Amino acid sequence: MRDDPKAIPRPRCHAGWACGFGRSYLCDFGKQSKLLFSSFQGEEKEVKAALDLFVALQSGKSPRVKNDEELKKTELALFRLRVLRTIKSYSLDYRGPQPQWFVEGFDEPAFEVMFQGLSDFLRKTDLSEDKIAECPTYIWNQAEKKGRGKASFLALLEGCLGLLIRRIYQVIPRTRFQMLLNEYQYARGGALKEASQAVCRRALLLNLLGMETVPDDYRCERCDVCRPDLDFQIKDLAGEKADGPRRPYDQLVLRLQEALGRPFSSTELDDLVEAFVSARFLTRLWGTVLAFLEQASFSLSALYLAGQASLRMEGGDEEALRYLSDGFREALIQLTDREGVLAFYRLASDAFPDEAYSWLYREESLWRDDRSFCHKEACRLFGDESAQARTIRLLLRLERLERVKKPLQVFVEKRRFLDRAWRPRPERGSTGGGKPKKRGRGERENATSFGRS
Ligand SMILES: [Zn+2]
Repeated sequence: MRDDPKAIPRPRCHAGWACGFGRSYLCDFGKQSKLLFSSFQGEEKEVKAALDLFVALQSGKSPRVKNDEELKKTELALFRLRVLRTIKSYSLDYRGPQPQWFVEGFDEPAFEVMFQGLSDFLRKTDLSEDKIAECPTYIWNQAEKKGRGKASFLALLEGCLGLLIRRIYQVIPRTRFQMLLNEYQYARGGALKEASQAVCRRALLLNLLGMETVPDDYRCERCDVCRPDLDFQIKDLAGEKADGPRRPYDQLVLRLQEALGRPFSSTELDDLVEAFVSARFLTRLWGTVLAFLEQASFSLSALYLAGQASLRMEGGDEEALRYLSDGFREALIQLTDREGVLAFYRLASDAFPDEAYSWLYREESLWRDDRSFCHKEACRLFGDESAQARTIRLLLRLERLERVKKPLQVFVEKRRFLDRAWRPRPERGSTGGGKPKKRGRGERENATSFGRS
């Protein structure tokens, strides 16, 4: 698995969909990944499909069902038109020889109505009100550019569809991939870096599935982790329910659920992680946030906690980096508070300085032109004399030179003008031979050009 900064991670078999480990067939994970990626054809294509469907409905045509693929595409386009309130509902009737779409309440609503539908959707994906408020101007400007100064209804619909589908692409593939990844986690099992043993399979599963509250060091003695020799010591299950009070764990679970429902606060989440670690209950935190991301891959709190917990899991570094990287990108989309975005960077920079530092230079980063911040970070992470810090100092010098270049050019132009003005005129009757004449004041040797007219 590799981390693609612009997309969700792809398994090795992604290149040409051939097994990355040399097998002649794809495993289930590969097959599921293939299905997932093929479901997202591209934002532009999907905007066009929804727009074409709208135009067809406008002219009174009902969408046809040619095959399964077409049916899926039309359903997606209908869903998007419904979100933007251009249709009220749709259904598929299977009673005839061929399934038939029924669309109800087709409308050409006012822009405000369409935008209300869009903003409701954006709000559900945790986009802040400030960010949502920026959208109408963007849509109008884009629409006016296309209509050369006058926005048409179709151009406004296209703008709304563009932003809707962009957000869908930002969150839905990640959500679906998380489901796949969590299944992989069930199979792989887990271990905490601090503990010398792997986590009991039962404890891991119960915590991942959010069932019973089971501490990290719980031993069931009935799984391959507790008994690697598979010589199971079967105890009386009935006696097990009474083993110790569960209340502290239940309180932690409640605190976690509340934190996931509140706006992002790295300080609160750091405290929560410490509480779970000291209660030897980290597997539960890890399992809960991973499951939460299956529903809300855009949740900043869940991404931050998943990063924190994965950092403490054996072999969890790659996943921690992915959660924090996704969190950094998502925080830039959702938040206007720079400190909230930097919380992801700061946490990642301790464990992965090179990768985290490179995030500062991403296209969407707020710090790529902030030389002073980047220099401070380069010195902190790699040292004052590191290549990264020296590069920024060099850039700063070049920028300073660039700044003085313009006034300098003006000065040079003035100098040329003066040189021309002071240039001595050729004397009449001069043949150009004989003794060189005395130079006048302000005249430079290379500025004389007696031979030229
Ligand atoms: Zn066990």
